[in-house]
Parts: sequence; structure tokens; C-alpha cells
Amino acid sequence: MEGKAFFIDTTLCIGCRACQIACKQWNQLPATKTENRGGFQNPADLSFYTYKLVRFFEQRGDDGKPVWYFFPDQCRHCLEPPCKEIPEDPDAIMIDQLTGAVLYTDKLKKENSQDVRDSCPYDIPRAENGTGYMAKCTMCVDRVHNGLLPACVKVCPTGAMNFGDYDAMVKLANRRLEEVGEKHPKAKLIGVEDTRVFWLLADKPEKYFDYAKSLIKPRGIDRKTALKKIARPLKELSREWQMLKGLAG
Ligand code: SF4
Ligand code: SF4
Repeated sequence: MEGKAFFIDTTLCIGCRACQIACKQWNQLPATKTENRGGFQNPADLSFYTYKLVRFFEQRGDDGKPVWYFFPDQCRHCLEPPCKEIPEDPDAIMIDQLTGAVLYTDKLKKENSQDVRDSCPYDIPRAENGTGYMAKCTMCVDRVHNGLLPACVKVCPTGAMNFGDYDAMVKLANRRLEEVGEKHPKAKLIGVEDTRVFWLLADKPEKYFDYAKSLIKPRGIDRKTALKKIARPLKELSREWQMLKGLAG
């Protein structure tokens, strides 16, 4: 398969949300006002200003101890995107030649925004209040075209976020599925057949969004090390932003 893909290994995710912050930083998106909803996921949902959201919830495992569910959510960059079928103008939503990324353009009319959102099987794209303009993950094509990793992948301290050639990501995903088999016998890959974002889940997919009994435990990284691993790439993102946007200007 041509193009690129993400592989998100949730068995390695520690819910640090560095990927979420890096996405905001690179795309120069404003912070979202949040409130205490009794959990640690913040903000509550994706929005016009939040393209990437680490969904998480605290639950009790079979042994009665608290366990975490983490699901870094974003546009799947579907191989045959249903959202692209909605606008009459075929150029309103483009497929990037190099990567296969699904990209929204300013030709996307606000009248289409509800239908575009409704067409997405994963409820990803969001319209801006008042304008109807739509936004979602861009696969950081501006970075990828310049040989850089997507911002979320660059900052992930555990190796949960991966990005590369589609076939290489499929290979990596299958290798990891095998590796975690003993620890997570119900582990499963989702998204490989029809999208450019695949996840390794430790349990049945429906258990993630239902916040059921999946046991996803982070693999040995302490808070201090994680913070250290996040700080440098976040600083580098600023430098890269100046470099690429400066070049474009
Ligand atoms: S996940 Fe939704 S928004 Fe993204 S390409 Fe697929 S249909 Fe479109
Ligand atoms: S940066 Fe990596 S470890 Fe942290 S929440 Fe995102 S995917 Fe998980």
C-alpha cells in the first residue's frame, strides 16, 4: 500500500497527553476551556480547536484495583473516506498524494458541515461555532512533506505513537500484537483494513468506549523520565514551526 500510516500502541500509552499538547502547539490552536467532570480526560471531546484527544477513564479491574483506559483519538484518514463523498465540489476534501492524508480545504462549505460530520463513522470532524468551517487532524502533512514526523508522534515518550510507510506500520503492528499476546490474550488490532490509523488494543474494541474491563497498563516509564522525554521535542517543535512557517512565508 502506498502512503503513510499511524500505528498507536495503547498498551504502551501512559495517558500523558503530550501528543494532544503537541498537536495544539504545532497547529497553533487555542486552549479549550475545561471543567472538572470527575475524571482525568480533558477536554470533554474533540472540537474545531482540538484535533487530537486522549480519551481516558478510571475503572476497576477484575482484582478491584483501579486501572486506566487510554485511547488517543483522531481522524483515521480513511482509505475511502465517507466524508469526502458529501461536498459537491470534489476538491473540497483532498487526498494528499504523498501520504494519503485526508485534508479539508476552505472550499468545504458551511452548509455541508453537519452532513460531513454525520458521514464520519468515527465522529471526528468538527465545525467552528458561527462560521461552519470544519477541522480535524491533518496528519501534519506540512511536517511530513519536509521529512519530519507528525508532532504527536515526535513527542510521545513511550513509543505508543508511531508513524511511517503504510506497510512498515502494518508490520510493526502485527509484531507488537504477537509480542503482547501473553500479557494481553484478548489484544486486537483495529483499523488496519480500511484506514491509515491503526490501534493495538489490549481488549475488545467496544470495551474502550464503554470503559469496560480492559487492562491497559503502561510499561515501565516513570513520571520524571516521561516529562524529560516530552520537554525536548516540545521545544524543538517551536523551532521547527519557525523554520517551516518562515520558509513558507
Ligand atoms: S475518520 Fe472521519 S473525518 Fe477522518 S477521513 Fe475518515 S470519515 Fe473523514
Ligand atoms: S504522548 Fe504517547 S504516551 Fe502520552 S498520551 Fe499520547 S500516545 Fe499516550
